[in-house]
Amino acid sequence: MPHDIKNYIAGEFITSTCRFDDVNPVDGSLVAVVHEADRATVDKAVQAAREALDGPWGLFSAAERAALLHKIADGIEGRFDDFVSAEIADTGKPLAQARTLDIPRGAANFRFFASLVSTSGTECFEMGTTDGAGALNYSIQKPLGVVGVISPWNLPFLLLTWKLAPAMAAGNAIVAKPSEETPASAALLAEVMHDVGIPPGVFNLVNGFGPDSAGEFLTSHRGVDAITFTGESSTGSAIMRAAADNVKALSFELGGKNAAIVFDDADLDQAIDGTVRSVFSNCGQVCLCSERVYVHESIFDEFVERLKDRAEALRMGRPEDEQTEIGPLVSIAHRDKVLSYYALAREEGADIVTGGGIPSFGDERDNGAWIEPTILTGLPESARCVREEIFGPVCHVAPFASEEQAIAMANDSAYGLAGAIWTTNLSRAHRVARQIEAGIVWVNTWYLRDLRTPFGGVKLSGIGREGGIHSLAFYSEPTNICIKL
Ligand code: NAD
Repeated sequence: MPHDIKNYIAGEFITSTCRFDDVNPVDGSLVAVVHEADRATVDKAVQAAREALDGPWGLFSAAERAALLHKIADGIEGRFDDFVSAEIADTGKPLAQARTLDIPRGAANFRFFASLVSTSGTECFEMGTTDGAGALNYSIQKPLGVVGVISPWNLPFLLLTWKLAPAMAAGNAIVAKPSEETPASAALLAEVMHDVGIPPGVFNLVNGFGPDSAGEFLTSHRGVDAITFTGESSTGSAIMRAAADNVKALSFELGGKNAAIVFDDADLDQAIDGTVRSVFSNCGQVCLCSERVYVHESIFDEFVERLKDRAEALRMGRPEDEQTEIGPLVSIAHRDKVLSYYALAREEGADIVTGGGIPSFGDERDNGAWIEPTILTGLPESARCVREEIFGPVCHVAPFASEEQAIAMANDSAYGLAGAIWTTNLSRAHRVARQIEAGIVWVNTWYLRDLRTPFGGVKLSGIGREGGIHSLAFYSEPTNICIKL
C-alpha cells in the first residue's frame, strides 16, 4: 500500500500540494507518494535550522550531542526491518546487502561519530614573548552553522548518514535533501529523530528534485553556510555555481571511472572474486566500482573467460529472495542511460563478451529496470565507454604489457576516486599504490572501509576529504584563542 512521504521541518511533518511518485524499480509498482518542498518550504526549513542553532542545541556539549547520536543509532536498530524494507523498495537492492551493509552502516555512522566527537581534543601551542612570560594558544571548534546535505540514490541511507552524523556531532543544524528516487529511508530517519527527541529544527528534511526544485533552492540559499554533497560530477559543478554567491563551504564526493589492475603475479582466484564484487555489486551502482579493468597480457584470456563465467552465474532476482546477488538498476531512466552506453560500445567497436541487453522474466519484473551484467573488451582507451562514468553493471577489460603502462592507463582519466590492485608482490603493491591518482587505493581487496580514514576523490571525483577527524574538521569552524600569560 503506497504511503505518503512528507517533509520534516521544525519537528513537524509537513504536507505539500505538489507531489511525485516513488517507484519500485523491481516491477514499476508505486512505493509512496512524495510531498515536494517548494521554495517557501525550503526557506522554512533553513529558518528552523537557524533558530535551532540559537536555541538549546547551540549550548549542547559534545557529550550531550554524542548521547543523542547514540539514541538515533538505537532508534535505527529498533526499526531495523522497516529501514531494510524501505531501502529495498526504493532501490531493488538484495536483502542480504541492505541487511549487512546499508542499514547497519547507517547506524554505525552515528555511533562512530558520537564516539569520535566525545573523545577528540584540541591543539595547544605555547609561544615565547619578548617579556619572557609567553602566551598560550588553543583552538575551540564551533559548528559551521546550517549545513545542507544532498545525497544520491545508490546507497541512500549509508551516504546520507555518512554526512549527517558528523555534521550533527559537530553541532550543526541540518537541512537534508535525499534523492528524489530514494526518499523512503530518509523519511523513516526523520521519524526516528522525532521519536528520540532531537530538538526541533536540528534535523530538517525536504524532498524534491535538483534544478529548479528543493536541491537548487537549498544550495543557492543565503541562510545555508555549507553544502555537503554526494552525486555526479556535473551536479557538483552546478552546486558550486549556486553556492558561489555567499561563498559556502563545500565538500563534494563525486563520480568515478575507477581502474582495477590485475598483475600476472596476482592470486587469480582472489582477483576474480574481488573483480566480480567491484564491478557488479549493487548492480554496478557504487561510486567505487571498477569500470576499467587492466589485466596483464599473459593472463588476459583466462581472466576474461573466468570473469565471463562468473558474470553469467550471478543470480538475478527479487530482493527478498535470499539467493539474489544482483537486482535491477534504480530506475527506467537510469537504465536508458546505461543501455545507451551499451549501444555506444557497439558503435565504438567493442566486443561484447557477455550481456549487453535486458533480461526477460515473463512476469511483472518486465516493468522494472533490469539489465544484464556486461563485459566489454577491444575498445581503444580513447573510447567514450572507457572514459565516461556509466554507473551500471559493466566493465571494459584491456590488456597491458608492463607495470609502467598499467599505471599510465589507470591514471589516464578525468576522474580519481578509487583504484584496486591485485598482486602478491609486496614491493609492487606499495610502489604502484602510491602512483595511482585516486583518493583511495585497495590492494587485494575492494570496498574495505575503516571509518577513521580520509575518504574522497581527486580531479573530477571531488573536493575535500571526509571520514574520521577529516569529517569533524570540515563540519567545524576552529577559532584560535591566544592568551598572553
Ligand atoms: P545526482 O548528481 O544526479 O544527484 C544527487 C543528488 O543531487 C540528488 O539528491 C539530486 O536531486 C541532487 N541534485 C541534482 N541536481 C542538483 C542541482 N542542480 N542542485 C542541487 N541538487 C541537485 O547523482 P545520482 O545520480 O543520485 O548518484 C549517482 C552519482 O553519484 C554517480 O556519479 C556516482 O559516482 C556518484 N557517487 C559518488 C560517491 C562518492 O563518494 N564519491 C558516492 C556515491 C555516488
